[in-house]
Amino acid sequence: MAYEFDLFVIGAGSGGVRAARFAAGFGAKVAVAESRYLGGTCVNVGCVPKKLLVYGAHFAEDFEQASGFGWSLGEADFDWATLIANKDREINRLNGIYRNLLVNSGVSLIEGHAKITGPHEVEINGQRHTAKHILIATGGWPQIPEIPGHEHAISSNEAFFLKELPKRVLVVGGGYIAVEFAGIFHGLGAKTSLLYRGEMFLRGFDGAVRKHLHEELVKRGMDVQFNADIERIDKQPDGSLKATLKDGRELIADCVFYATGRRPMLDNLGLENTGVKLDKRGFVEVDDLYQSAEPSILAIGDVIGRVQLTPVALAEGMAVARRLFKPEQYRPVDYRMIPTAVFSLPNIGTVGLSEEQAVEAGHKVQIFESSFRPMKLTLTECQERTLMKLVVDADTDKVLGCHMVGPEAGEIVQGLAIALKAGATKQQFDKAIGVHPTAAEEFVTMRTPVKR
Ligand code: FAD
Ligand code: NDP
Repeated sequence: MAYEFDLFVIGAGSGGVRAARFAAGFGAKVAVAESRYLGGTCVNVGCVPKKLLVYGAHFAEDFEQASGFGWSLGEADFDWATLIANKDREINRLNGIYRNLLVNSGVSLIEGHAKITGPHEVEINGQRHTAKHILIATGGWPQIPEIPGHEHAISSNEAFFLKELPKRVLVVGGGYIAVEFAGIFHGLGAKTSLLYRGEMFLRGFDGAVRKHLHEELVKRGMDVQFNADIERIDKQPDGSLKATLKDGRELIADCVFYATGRRPMLDNLGLENTGVKLDKRGFVEVDDLYQSAEPSILAIGDVIGRVQLTPVALAEGMAVARRLFKPEQYRPVDYRMIPTAVFSLPNIGTVGLSEEQAVEAGHKVQIFESSFRPMKLTLTECQERTLMKLVVDADTDKVLGCHMVGPEAGEIVQGLAIALKAGATKQQFDKAIGVHPTAAEEFVTMRTPVKR
């Protein structure tokens, strides 16, 4: 049967745009549907605007530290509306770039909500299109637990467009988004409480990293509460919000921000018209080739719930385009050693196994750890400390994991990820000459393992 398109991509986010552009570059006839915003979550309500707000929040400590270097500043004044307007302008510019990228690569961009009406058919704006392959790249959506009063809470989607910076914020959750936004609100001057339901936030990260970040946030004056779970939220007559915790305590705030994970975006996608199956958590089930249970339908990115990071969605998009239209260049995505950063203040940067994961996987580990006051702070009152940690296999000497909490941790860990991917040993780390004076040189000068 002749189809209108070789590939119909649903969702012009990180994964969808990458797959569409590469497929078109390989000579395929490609369409991409987008219902909301070009560039998807990352560009519009994710990585990019988040990082801009983190930069904004960082100025507070720069101003504080400046006096140690001889600068005297007047009283600093912050205007949320200016930050948001400038952020919006930049995002609009990026939306335009994404449009040009798609159009210039020969992809047909169709703006509207796409619904799958059959294994090879998609309906959008009342028109039906056929395609040999359909790629679901519809991403995710914030998930707020349905406690009484949940309608008063906001998610990251709304936080980027608040008219004013709330004076008092409760941030709920203990993952990436909660920790990052708590840093943003706190840094910009809101009285911020971070509430996590468990014993210690950032589950899955190295234990030393979690503890160190907790200490640093408290040092900075953030109210961090563990074992704190909200039972209900009530709007007060004065417009403020009262959160009642399961232990009976009541907290008052102007904004309750939930960052309690993201569900796959499958709303009105028409999966009932296909043989596509979902996994136990509700994400689209795919095999190693991103093939769903319906042979003509593939899925990548957040909607498959593997690793919800932009560079992973990009790699998956590229893998699909290559496999379908340039098989001689196909190589599978390697999910080991994916570096990642949490843009909290201070940042976390991490690649490879945590100490706990390494032990659980049966490695005999040697741990190298260093905590120090960065040189930049020696002329200031700031008592912040940086943490660096290497997890090494005692038998093979291979470095299994690198972890850091401190300024520019994300930037530093990117380079280390190449070393770990190449299978670097601790001896090779030791042989590398440091760059002096930097914080990063500590990663090649840690000589004595920590006694456990
Ligand atoms: P998305 O980028 O979500 O794109 C999906 C697109 O599909 C959307 O544009 C949507 O409108 C469209 N769509 C959905 N349904 C339909 C339909 N039926 N018809 C037409 N179009 C449809 N990752 C990082 O690596 N680093 C970070 O710093 C980072 N920060 C983040 C901060 C926040 C606040 C959030 C929420 C996420 C962050 N992420 C970060 C994660 C990252 O944004 C996602 O992993 C990434 O965007 C996933 O890409 P995707 O292509 O799977 O989906
Ligand atoms: P995460 O899955 O990272 O964290 C969710 C948090 O919410 C966990 O601490 C979880 O606790 C808690 N939680 C879940 N359900 C409830 C509930 N019902 N009540 C109270 N707490 C709850 O999700 P995020 O929303 O923070 O981020 C989604 C994904 O987006 C991330 O996993 C990451 O992949 C990506 N992202 C990446 C960023 C980056 O690269 N810098 C930045 C932002 C997002 P528990 O641990 O107990 O389950």
